[in-house]
Amino acid sequence: MSLGWLRNFRSLFLIEVCPLCDRPAEEILCRACETQLQRCRLAQPEAFWQGESPLLVWGNYGGILKRAIAAMKYENHPEIAELLGEFLGRAWLDVSPSLPKMVVVPVPMNPEKRKQRGFDQAELIARSFCRQTGFPLKCQGLQRVKETQPLFDLNPQERELMMRDAFALGKDFQKERSRLPVLLVDDLYTTGNTVKAGAKTLSRAGIRVGGIAAVASPRGKATDKR
Ligand SMILES: [Zn+2]
Repeated sequence: MSLGWLRNFRSLFLIEVCPLCDRPAEEILCRACETQLQRCRLAQPEAFWQGESPLLVWGNYGGILKRAIAAMKYENHPEIAELLGEFLGRAWLDVSPSLPKMVVVPVPMNPEKRKQRGFDQAELIARSFCRQTGFPLKCQGLQRVKETQPLFDLNPQERELMMRDAFALGKDFQKERSRLPVLLVDDLYTTGNTVKAGAKTLSRAGIRVGGIAAVASPRGKATDKR
């Protein structure tokens, strides 16, 4: 009896379980958790917008959104990235219908960490974002070349120093630069230093960064707190 057969047999009889509450789930999450998650959406996802470069943050990093991100990263639930990317893509289309098409580049994680985790959540979010928006995707637009520590304990100067030269131009742009502006996509937007370092690497190579989109930021305020 092949293992594939066994797997199919099991999936016929096992009910999928919600990774956030262990109740039966029709889709990626159960309906109750998905509804609750949707409430984490910011009333104004574009509230972080600064100057010329659009910055969109989908939700407040707290409650069930924080839990969903933790389950995705640390409990091996990459499928949650698909849902979050879909939310982010929809919000981008809602908020910025007049903005030009951009090429999406995920902010890559450390290769060592990626190997341990088995996936890069920013890449999966970006993939799903592109399915939603129809934007082209360049997963290897950037590469991480420097080991970095978490930034939250550092002061602004130390953060900048830590992120300096953290990225290099990735394979996708080494031979041919992008003609479209780049939209950087990440799961979290905390200090902004990481994504800014990525943007700087692209600009130095003559690639225009047209915007940033992140799933969550601890600086946001949710639509409501029900
Ligand atoms: Zn649930």
